[in-house]
Amino acid sequence: MQPSPRQTSLIDAVRAALGDAAVTTDPGDIAPWLDDWRGRYHGRSPAILSPDSTAAVATVMRLAAEHGVPLVPQGGNTSMVGGATPPVDGSALIVSLRRMNRIRSIDPAAGLAVAEAGVILANLHAAAEAEGMRFPLTLGARGSATIGGLASTNAGGTQVLRFGTMRGLVAGVEAVLPNGEIHDGLAALKKDNRGYDLDHLLIGAEGTLGILTAVTLRLYPAIAQRAVAWVGLADPETALALLRRLERRTDTIESFEIVSGDSLAQVLKHIPGTRAPLATQHRWHVLIEAVATDPTAEAPAELLERLLAPALADGQAADATIAASEAQAEAFWRIRDSLSEAERASGPAMQHDISVPVATMPRFMIEAAAAAEARFPGSHATAFGHLGDGNVHFHVRAPAGADAARWYAEDAPIVTRFVHDLVVAAGGSISAEHGIGQMKRAELARLSSPARMAALRAIKAGLDPQGLMNPDKLLGLAENPAAP
Ligand SMILES: Cc1cc2nc3c(=O)[nH]c(=O)nc-3n(C[C@H](O)[C@H](O)[C@H](O)COP(=O)(O)OP(=O)(O)OC[C@H]3O[C@@H](n4cnc5c(N)ncnc54)[C@H](O)[C@@H]3O)c2cc1C
Repeated sequence: MQPSPRQTSLIDAVRAALGDAAVTTDPGDIAPWLDDWRGRYHGRSPAILSPDSTAAVATVMRLAAEHGVPLVPQGGNTSMVGGATPPVDGSALIVSLRRMNRIRSIDPAAGLAVAEAGVILANLHAAAEAEGMRFPLTLGARGSATIGGLASTNAGGTQVLRFGTMRGLVAGVEAVLPNGEIHDGLAALKKDNRGYDLDHLLIGAEGTLGILTAVTLRLYPAIAQRAVAWVGLADPETALALLRRLERRTDTIESFEIVSGDSLAQVLKHIPGTRAPLATQHRWHVLIEAVATDPTAEAPAELLERLLAPALADGQAADATIAASEAQAEAFWRIRDSLSEAERASGPAMQHDISVPVATMPRFMIEAAAAAEARFPGSHATAFGHLGDGNVHFHVRAPAGADAARWYAEDAPIVTRFVHDLVVAAGGSISAEHGIGQMKRAELARLSSPARMAALRAIKAGLDPQGLMNPDKLLGLAENPAAP
């Protein structure tokens, strides 16, 4: 697409300041970055700007502010809510952080690493491991998702049970604000009470308040041993009771993921090379990971065997297996990590990343699925994910044979409103870990209190008065105070 005169002038100015390597205008090179991972959103943009340093990001932001051109920050483009997809009208330029991919330092003694925004999560994992350390946050998109994207969405993943979300793992933030000024908060201060916490305002801001350029991250000692168990059981209530039972005996459980029999079947059907971990069939399953950092500690496999035995004996667990090798452990995790992909392959569906208080999640999963299926005949509702965090991905699949385009346009929004109303009635959140992006913008406005929306708008107006940062995300164009 042709850039507007203002965009042309900005592109020329960025090229003059930062060189040709910082500007991509070839439509073929831009195309892969215009769609979201789910294939639900398709944006347009005449250029990608790729600064390779914090100073270069500041130059881009200052010039964009001068020219009044909106920017969409982008890391790995794995957003589940269309957060990194540019607007369809082509009004914004993409700012890719992928050239800012240096790990500036790893300090095992301090347990800290400083990683630039474009560092891919899997690369950080490898670098930490090489130093005998570990960055514990992980998720299915670890081969593409970047540190900047993870911090900007306050990502969760599968180890939240023990380590919390990204917010708990970030010890400092360096960012460029919409006017081009640099906020240097990388120093990992344990105590810092200088008023409003700018770092934490930027974490989870989804690129609407500025661009993160580097982050100080907390590292933990590398794992010496781990064990992964797959357990078949009756229902989510039983699963949570099992987690509580295990937690009373050990503090080494760091993942506890629930998978319905139906979700497992979708994986086995759509993901090549996957096999059911148990010979027996169950309505629900949990994947449990236990770890030890001390090589002389009781082996996690023995620990899990010892702790699961009474649950099997009294029927709380119907069947269980512990991975006999690292390859088998990876195979169990592959099933878990492929759930979203399998759901995507199984036809039109609406996904809802939701949370309710942990204790009420089991009942919510069952009752909300029954309510959704009753309200939308022929649809199929199921949930999987982070039961121990009170966060599941609640999927409602369209009736078999439904026309995808029509279903998404007409039925899906009604399905989503129905599910979200149930979540709010249960005291929960319509976005547990994926953010708001463009997918949930209207729902956020519909379901939030006037106090929350007024505060969000005031913060946005204060830091981004021109409304140039990631327009139509989180608050949306109509919500931005001075959108162009
Ligand atoms: C298979 C799969 C599994 C997933 N599993 C999980 C999961 O378990 N838990 C979870 O929380 N998420 C999960 N996600 C969602 C996704 O991986 C996360 O949201 C991730 O944090 C996005 O990182 P990214 O680099 O791809 O960011 P992008 O998708 O590029 O961007 C995400 C948002 O952050 C903004 N942004 C990106 N970089 C910057 C920056 N440097 N400064 C300011 N803003 C920026 C973008 O504008 C956008 O709003 C999954 C995604 C996939 C595809």
